[in-house]
Amino acid sequence: MIGEEIRNITASLPAGVRLVAVSKYHPEEAIMQAYQAGQRAFGESHVQELQRKYESLPKDIEWHFIGHLQTNKVKYLAPYVSLIHAVDTPKLLAEISKQGIKCGRRIPCLLQLHVAQEETKFGFSVEEAEAFLQSGEWREMQGAEIHGIMCMASLTDDEQQIAHEFDTAHQFFLRAKELYFAQEASFCECSWGMSDDYLIALRHGSTMIRVGSKIFGQRQY
Ligand SMILES: *Cc1c(COP(=O)(O)O)cnc(C)c1O
Repeated sequence: MIGEEIRNITASLPAGVRLVAVSKYHPEEAIMQAYQAGQRAFGESHVQELQRKYESLPKDIEWHFIGHLQTNKVKYLAPYVSLIHAVDTPKLLAEISKQGIKCGRRIPCLLQLHVAQEETKFGFSVEEAEAFLQSGEWREMQGAEIHGIMCMASLTDDEQQIAHEFDTAHQFFLRAKELYFAQEASFCECSWGMSDDYLIALRHGSTMIRVGSKIFGQRQY
């Protein structure tokens, strides 16, 4: 089942779009089923859980941290994380950079843009993100590298609303690319689309979908 979902989703993706299989709350055995179907990029959103899985599972897995990350936990992930999706403050990026330098790495990161209607979601507003990029502070953060933009759409059945939110993030990405990252080939990722909205995301600029329950079923423990 899990392997079949992985193969079906992967086969349906347009060129240039990657699947991050969101394995949070699912056991190691479930991850290994996806792994055996060829999946290598997995997304987790809790530091302790990720640490445990990182230690016990094959070392060629690419671990993506997709959840809200507290600054005091960055140090645990810094040696091995392949992409931190939800950088939501300049302070967090500065800490990632500091820990990246300690490990001799430039840790790939995405800026999380708040485009949804819900008040409680994390992320930069478009204005805040613009001001941060404009400030140039991030250029000094040598242990972190901004690879693109991440967002989550509103929890709604209104497909037009979701499409509009992804478009807002995509427009921001294109503008940032032109103004601040024109020389940086590594600024190329648009991380949006989950189980219920990834088909919409694929029509609105996504290069990386983060799909969990459609692959693994209901989350366990
Ligand atoms: C859990 C989670 C996902 C996956 O959600 P599904 O609806 O299970 O596909 C994607 N992105 C983030 C940030 C998540 O926390």
